[in-house]
Amino acid sequence: MEKLENKEFCQKCGGYCCKKSGCDYFTTDFVSLKSDYLEEVLKSGRISIVAIIKFNNDHGKMTLRPFLYLRARNTGRGVVDLLSYKKACASLEEDGCYYDFEHRPSGGKHLVPSSLGKNHCHPDVDLLKEIMNWRNYQNILRGLVQKITGMDVETKLKEDAENLFYDYLTDNNKDVAIEERKDILGMLPLLKEVYPECYDKALERYNQKKDQEDLEAQEKIEKILSRIPSNR
Ligand code: SF4
Ligand code: SF4
Repeated sequence: MEKLENKEFCQKCGGYCCKKSGCDYFTTDFVSLKSDYLEEVLKSGRISIVAIIKFNNDHGKMTLRPFLYLRARNTGRGVVDLLSYKKACASLEEDGCYYDFEHRPSGGKHLVPSSLGKNHCHPDVDLLKEIMNWRNYQNILRGLVQKITGMDVETKLKEDAENLFYDYLTDNNKDVAIEERKDILGMLPLLKEVYPECYDKALERYNQKKDQEDLEAQEKIEKILSRIPSNR
């Protein structure tokens, strides 16, 4: 493919797209899409199994369907990262991408840098169409989720959903791009409809944390007060 890289534009911008999230892998990025091969690839520590979540209102009952694919891993995220705030790519280094252009995920290679800045950069291919090419490998990726986490996709999604609710409640999203925060904010009410029990568990954890913080603050005040000499 034509080399679309423009270090001058990207240096000036400071790597905004990579700070928003890791980029997408196309199926054509791998010499094999067999389970054993992908399992080895995932051991690099630089790639995650991620998901696009599609919500569906089925006669008043909200359901969701995850579509699995691979993406460059985000900072602090695991090898299976189905539902979380997207953060800076873990392969973004001080002087740019860890990979040279040829070895970069195709989602990154196909982004055309613009001299006008971040909002004017666009992919030269239909990214969603490329991601959808993973449709024939859903069972392989599901098998890998099970093998790596010991959980099926649905159980792992619930775990991720609870942690996402908790991150939202505790404002643990300061290093997340504003666009991503808005996306998640729009999704949370739907997620709560599908997984009310995950929201309740996150809320319980949040309340326990607040109670613990209040207790610690109270103990601190009492300690300070005990050092003040009495007038009598
Ligand atoms: S591709 Fe665009 S958004 Fe990404 S670093 Fe380059 S100029 Fe910035
Ligand atoms: S893999 Fe490289 S190009 Fe892709 S998001 Fe990470 S740092 Fe950016």
